[in-house]
Amino acid sequence: MMRILLALSLALVCLPTHTSARMIRIVYVEPAGETFTATEQAAARAGMQGAIDFWQALAPSPVPLLIASERTITATGDIFDTFEWSRAYFAGPPDLTIFVIDSSHPLMRDYLAQSQTALGLIWALRGAGDDFAATLAHELGHVVYGLPHVYDEVGIMGLDPTWAYQHQWIGCASLASLGRPCRIVWLPVVRG
Ligand SMILES: [Zn+2]
Repeated sequence: MMRILLALSLALVCLPTHTSARMIRIVYVEPAGETFTATEQAAARAGMQGAIDFWQALAPSPVPLLIASERTITATGDIFDTFEWSRAYFAGPPDLTIFVIDSSHPLMRDYLAQSQTALGLIWALRGAGDDFAATLAHELGHVVYGLPHVYDEVGIMGLDPTWAYQHQWIGCASLASLGRPCRIVWLPVVRG
């Protein structure tokens, strides 16, 4: 009897906790004079899926994220001034709204992306290859997992998110914030 009880309690402890999926709305944004082509949108979507897969594979308790809808809009005026134009498309938490801006501006207020965690919002400039996916993975770290920046280690929330994305590495400080401290210790290399 005791064995059965023990087995049952172990089974209960080992059951995965249910986390409901958060839906993602993608809004492809064409500033005046720019065309967000189907090929560019497909590349942006692939980058977004890469960012989703990053957390799904590596987070200790992954939050399921599903791309639920996609639309294209044209924004007018100075789109980097107030972001007022984006207000009409906010989904509101728990859903996420990701504005992917097709702009020849190299940066958006000095950044590749920015986010507002409480509103479930991300604005990101369309970029090429892994940089875009890494940038989105970083922003998902803020918005979905509530992680802060970590300025003193290489990781998705810290130094060199592109490297961290390419090497599928969250970073020890962020992992510790998510409840799984690193078990490995990086020793300094001594060269004699
Ligand atoms: Zn950040």
